[in-house]
Amino acid sequence: MQRESMEFDVLIVGGGPAGLSAAIRLKQMAAAAQREVDVCLIEKGAEIGAHILSGAVMDPRALNELLPDWKDLGAPITTEVSEDRFLMLSETGARQIPNSLLPDCFLNHGNYVVRLGNVAKWLGEQAEAMGVEIYPGFAGAEVLYDEAGAVMGVATGDMGVGRDGEPGPNYQPGMELHAKYTLFAEGCRGHLGKSLEAKFNLRANADPQTYGLGIKELWEIDPAKHQAGLVVHSAGWPLGSDTYGGSFLYHLEENLVSVGFVVGLNYSNPHLSPY
Ligand SMILES: Cc1cc2nc3c(=O)[nH]c(=O)nc-3n(C[C@H](O)[C@H](O)[C@H](O)COP(=O)(O)OP(=O)(O)OC[C@H]3O[C@@H](n4cnc5c(N)ncnc54)[C@H](O)[C@@H]3O)c2cc1C
Repeated sequence: MQRESMEFDVLIVGGGPAGLSAAIRLKQMAAAAQREVDVCLIEKGAEIGAHILSGAVMDPRALNELLPDWKDLGAPITTEVSEDRFLMLSETGARQIPNSLLPDCFLNHGNYVVRLGNVAKWLGEQAEAMGVEIYPGFAGAEVLYDEAGAVMGVATGDMGVGRDGEPGPNYQPGMELHAKYTLFAEGCRGHLGKSLEAKFNLRANADPQTYGLGIKELWEIDPAKHQAGLVVHSAGWPLGSDTYGGSFLYHLEENLVSVGFVVGLNYSNPHLSPY
């Protein structure tokens, strides 16, 4: 079955903070130049924000530049960091490192504790209001190239394919989305990004990739123990001194805490289980 195609000026693959910000910026620039620019954004999650899981402390600097009136626009960014704590854990206790000895990346004065999925959802609403065409539920499955070998868009995946890989009764071939410019914003280790890296040799002369494993949960805790805006990082136990990693506790609004643990995947003890 022939695939149908649609044409855009710009196609953005991925509706995370990067893709959505790019879409908004393009619409702002087009409006300033009094030009019509069609921007289409596809997102593989069922809705914008559904696949964003980082429990985040967010520096608002980029948002101040992109949408200076974000507070008036109702951004779900309301919990300002109230205190930073960095703890060295041992099996029996914790020692706090004085903030004066911490590197800048652990000093979050002026930053916000956010649920990044909610921020992405809100950015999506802003982009849509500016005329960006957003298609959630569509994954870019294949990069399309023109005769000269340049990227000309992506194709979405076929639907209704059976377990055997053959078309079933509800089979629908994917769509071809063509654009003058295609912007890949799949986040790290994107499926299409990796194929582009290989085809255009984009990682030549780049440092080798490093990997970590992050685990995150959202907890509702006893209000007596909750302190909105408190940001706690830890290093040490249960990891040994030869293993890179640590934990975070970000106190959000409504007695919620984002709890996470990250371990570098270059640990040498094969029995270590971050879970
Ligand atoms: C556990 C954890 C904690 C973190 N904590 C912080 C923090 O405290 N502060 C901070 O600043 N940063 C933090 N980060 C990093 C932050 O989450 C990322 O830098 C940020 O999300 C990157 O944005 P992005 O738009 O590039 O990609 P992503 O947020 O990964 O978004 C990519 C989007 O593209 C979609 N997508 C991917 N492939 C396709 C495809 N082929 N077709 C269609 N859609 C596709 C995905 O579903 C996703 O919605 C954390 C990350 C993790 C994992």
